[in-house]
Formats: sequence, C-alpha cells, structure tokens
Amino acid sequence: AETQLRQIQKMESLGQLAGGLAHDLNNMLTVIIGGLSVFKRRYERGDTGLLRYIDAAEEAAGNAATVTQRMLAFSRQQSLAPRHLDVNRFVGSTSELLRHAMGGAIQLETVLAGGIWPVFADSSQLENALLNLAINARDAMPGGGRLTIETSNAHLDEAYATTNPESRAGQYVLIAITDTGSGMNAATIARAFDPFFTTKGVGQGTGLGLSQVYGFVKQSDGHIKIYSEIGEGTTMKVYLPRHRAADAPGQTGVTPIETAMP
Ligand code: ADP
Repeated sequence: AETQLRQIQKMESLGQLAGGLAHDLNNMLTVIIGGLSVFKRRYERGDTGLLRYIDAAEEAAGNAATVTQRMLAFSRQQSLAPRHLDVNRFVGSTSELLRHAMGGAIQLETVLAGGIWPVFADSSQLENALLNLAINARDAMPGGGRLTIETSNAHLDEAYATTNPESRAGQYVLIAITDTGSGMNAATIARAFDPFFTTKGVGQGTGLGLSQVYGFVKQSDGHIKIYSEIGEGTTMKVYLPRHRAADAPGQTGVTPIETAMP
C-alpha cells in the first residue's frame, strides 16, 4: 500500500505537471507571437537588427515542440488495456489503498451486491478513477465523515436514456461512491467534468481529476452522473457496461465469471 500511496501522490502531481506544461507552453507561444509581430513591423521600416527576433521565435518554437512531445508521450501512457473484470473483487483489493488515502478521520464502508455482472475495463484506469473520486470525497470532508462504495447490477431504461442524453439504455454494473461532505451547487455540478475546473485554492486543485474519470468512463462506453446536496454530501454514480465473455474479440481463453443473475 505504501508504493500505491506514492502512486496517488504521483497522479496528483501529474495533474499539476499538466497545468505547468500548459503554462510553459503559453509563455513560449507569447515569445513566438511577440517576436514575429516585432519582426513584421520593423521589416517594413527596413530595420537591419531583425535576425534576433527570428532567432528568439525559433528557439521558443523548438521549446514548445519539446513540451508538446512530452505531453503526447504522457497521454500515450494512458491508453486503455481493458480486461474481463470482477468489480467486487477489484473494490475489495483497492479498499486498503483507499483507506490509506482517506486518512484517519474518514470511515470507509463497502457494500458489495452478490451476483455482480463482469465488466470489461482497464484495471489501472479504474483504480485511478476510484482514487480520484475518493480524494475529492476526502477534500469535501475536512472534518471527517463517511465514504461508502456500493456496487450493484443496474438497468438503465429508455426513459432514463431520454432524460440523460449522454447515456445509453442497457445493462450496467453500478459503482456508487457517496460522501457525507460539503456537496456541490448546481453551477459546480454543471462544470465539474471540465478540464481545469476547480473550486479548490491555487496550488490545491488542478481541475483534472474528474475530467480524467469522465474520459475513462466514456472510453469504456459507460456513464457517470453526479447527485449532490449542499451540506449533505455527494454520490458519484459510475455505470460500466455489463460484459459477456463472448463480446470481446481476442478474449479466448478467458474464464467467464459465474453470475447468479440471468
Ligand atoms: P480538483 O479536485 O483538482 O478540484 P476535479 O476535476 O477532481 O478537480 O473536481 C472539480 C471540482 O468538483 C472540485 O474543485 C470540487 O468543487 C467539485 N467536486 C468534485 N468532487 C466533489 C465532492 N465529492 N464533493 C464536493 N465537491 C466536489
């Protein structure tokens, strides 16, 4: 759990890194744009000392290219390698890590339904998503509280899909993460998944946690929804599609997990 805790800190600092890279990139682009505009103005007047503006622009463009290459390398590391997964077993093995991340003042409770359907997901991405959600819950409960992780089989019907256009009707495994924290107002809920949106102080939040979670859920053909009440707490509902072993190309040799439900 110690190395995994370091992993959480790494994910948090990677978020800060992404913010830092964007900031650096913006500085370099400012030099490029400024240099070129000075060049154009003086070129028309026949200025002879123009070469240094082009040199500065070239150097900044080179630096910017290095930064974007690093960003690309970082995002490639995050490609999905989905596998047949038992969510209950997964939550069980992750709860120790989550308990560590929560600290002493927050109680962690898991409520795992029997006969849960298997899903097809990338386990390190799912772990990262649960950690991000748990860390947000922790931040919303500075005075302590309770974090509940609940799993169940869920059916999203056509009526739900109509009122929630980002979802598709079907069978899902639901992972509900509930905290007893500060809650969110409607404006925060509306923007919570936006990259770089944060209500936490400078140097506290990066605004990248929920956008990462959202990206993972969408890539997994799932659905995520926020239920929150100011002063009461928040429930994040993550729906991952039910997986049938026969659905997956190249998944021969995978032992299907027994399920109690049809
Ligand atoms: P960050 O945690 O860096 O602020 P996130 O994308 O993870 O970035 O979250 C965006 C915002 O959504 C947070 O700043 C906070 O206002 C709100 N939020 C997310 N989860 C919760 C929660 N469990 N309780 C209250 N507010 C939350």
